[in-house]
Amino acid sequence: MGHTHRVAIIGCGRVGATTAFALLHTGQVEELVLIDTDRARAEGEAMDLAHATALLAPARVWAGDYADAASAAIVIVAAGRASASRDESRLQLVGDNVRITRQIVGELAAVGFSGCLLMATNPVDVLAQIAASASPLPAARVIGSGTLLDTARLRQLLATACALDPRSVHAHILGEHGDSEIVAWSSAAIAGMPWAAFGAQAGVELAPEAILDSVRGAAPAIIERKGATNFAIGAALARLVSCILRDEHSVLMVSTRLAGEYGERDVYLSVPCVVGGGGVERIIELDLSPAEWAGLHRSAEILRDVARRVAA
Ligand code: NAD
Repeated sequence: MGHTHRVAIIGCGRVGATTAFALLHTGQVEELVLIDTDRARAEGEAMDLAHATALLAPARVWAGDYADAASAAIVIVAAGRASASRDESRLQLVGDNVRITRQIVGELAAVGFSGCLLMATNPVDVLAQIAASASPLPAARVIGSGTLLDTARLRQLLATACALDPRSVHAHILGEHGDSEIVAWSSAAIAGMPWAAFGAQAGVELAPEAILDSVRGAAPAIIERKGATNFAIGAALARLVSCILRDEHSVLMVSTRLAGEYGERDVYLSVPCVVGGGGVERIIELDLSPAEWAGLHRSAEILRDVARRVAA
């Protein structure tokens, strides 16, 4: 690993810039390098962000190039095209963003980057898989943001319905970051109780189907209104960076390569992962219901199919 507290962000559009801002708020990043094919944009964001360090925490922020990413502890990839409209699914973005991902991974390999590579560009599971196979890094250090964001949305929705802090809600979204994702309701807990028991005691009606629909529909609903999503993904990526820099061993829902866990292998999708300094250090196997198990395999099949078509 290189500079322990250097982070590079490749792609400084809405997601990349917001992630940079979220990272500066953590106070854990000492050096932040912004890389973008639109150099002026990277420079403008770096100048604006650098001014914020006088008010947040000291950090050196600059617009750089791949040589600056060589010794970073973490590289975040948010480069590429986002959904142009609410009708364009994440999987439709695949062609353009596969090309961009391969180019970036090649550049990082050429400079000898050896830290953790965090993928945010969509379709994130497929691109994390492509990045991992094109990169000399071990799969544990190539991580997709996966359903970290969707899980945050789920917890926030459940918490709002129950008038609770989302941090008191433990419910996970597994599978694709996209339409085939599933909620592991069988292990979902609110305030330490099974979610349905909590709902009954609190007199709150929790409708699982409607809640999952709201989570799945969140990105299109936001894109329709403001053109993109950026704040929650920025917070999710900053959380992931903290986990790695602080070697936290927190359990996060991120997209990782399965190697037999959940009866799947050679596919990237989200499951609960222990995340620390080495990236994904362990995969937790939840005790899923038969319907959840079937849903997860359907999601794996969809992702494997896209990855196969893209690699062809
Ligand atoms: P954006 O258009 O605002 O920014 C993309 C940036 O990437 C631009 O600045 C562009 O110049 C740059 N870029 C393009 N090709 C590049 C290359 N080869 N090298 C370096 N930089 C390059 O888009 P955005 O709204 O920031 O979204 C970025 C990506 O993040 C999209 O794919 C979007 O779908 C994805 N996203 C993912 C999640 C998630 O949960 N994983 C959430 C929101 C958005």
